[in-house]
Amino acid sequence: MLQHRFVNSIPVDIEDNVLYISIPFCTAIHKCVCGCGKEVVTPLSPTDWQLTFDGKTVSLYPSIGNWNFDCKSHYFINKSKIEYARKWNDVEVEKGRRKDTRSKEEFNSSQKPKERKSFWRKVNFGIGLKRKK
Ligand SMILES: [Zn+2]
Repeated sequence: MLQHRFVNSIPVDIEDNVLYISIPFCTAIHKCVCGCGKEVVTPLSPTDWQLTFDGKTVSLYPSIGNWNFDCKSHYFINKSKIEYARKWNDVEVEKGRRKDTRSKEEFNSSQKPKERKSFWRKVNFGIGLKRKK
């Protein structure tokens, strides 16, 4: 069972078997469950991971594939339980990466404003953002 901890910022030292979730930073972090001790950062966004918290357990979707680590572990976090998935081969990893890039591009282009803003409106918007801080 994976524990979860809601935190404001991600702690420097993280414990095994704990999923740290920072809502302000829209990020979750945990140590790779295979035991290799590498930190796995999963940004939460419509095109990255989605977190489900049912009041007791947490789930992350899609699966976590640590292709960049030596262990290359692949698993789901489903209702705070680790469900190991089949390891992907290099071709599948590459395919997955490409699909990821494509869905990000599609999402980003759907987020663009329909009507082109004039230069001055953009500047005003920029100033408005700065004042908020
Ligand atoms: Zn690992």
